Amino acid sequence: MVRKLLVATHNQGKLLEYGKLLQDLPLALTCLDEIGVREEVAETGNTFAANAVLKARYYASLTGLWTWADDSGLEVDALQGAPGVHSARYAGPGATDQDRNEKLLWELRFHPRPWTARFQCVVAVARPAAEAETCTGTLEGTITNAPRGSNGFGYDPIFFAPDHGRTLAELTTSVKNEISHRGRASRHAKELLKNLLKS
Ligand code: IMP
Repeated sequence: MVRKLLVATHNQGKLLEYGKLLQDLPLALTCLDEIGVREEVAETGNTFAANAVLKARYYASLTGLWTWADDSGLEVDALQGAPGVHSARYAGPGATDQDRNEKLLWELRFHPRPWTARFQCVVAVARPAAEAETCTGTLEGTITNAPRGSNGFGYDPIFFAPDHGRTLAELTTSVKNEISHRGRASRHAKELLKNLLKS
């Protein structure tokens, strides 16, 4: 039997990416827009896991579907883990990726280098009548003193991946997916789904 899996996102890019990853499982992916769900969940958790679970459980009980939700962001050690769960809103409403990168470099200007940091991603999988389960992925690196590269999005141009000697924005999408926090969390979550489908 092919089971429906709701990917709790409005982001078509993410849906495509997850679709590719999960294509060999007996799952039919759908997203919020496709099933006409407009309700938003306030991401009020203090951790990525709390927010991912909030979203996964909310949409699973609203729709009755197995639901996949993620939350991710950047933690910078010199800034006590900021921007963290506030990564998307770090420079206020209406700000661009470039504004957020500039703010981060400004906040770091008097801190000694290296500016160690990590991307974190948590994927939560929820079934309507069960607790959500979570999978985490991390990518360690450092913040550069200026943006470099034009691929990717968000903080990619100022995040240096030491094993590759480049910022994430200088890597191809497929290399980034191999090493990224989201790639790692998603591959774990795929294994989790495989087991749930067997049970
Ligand atoms: P969300 O989990 O998609 O809501 O992402 C939260 C925010 O974290 C994004 O808006 C970005 O600012 C940042 N972020 C998460 N993942 C990445 C990434 O892979 N590259 C760059 N920025 C990211």
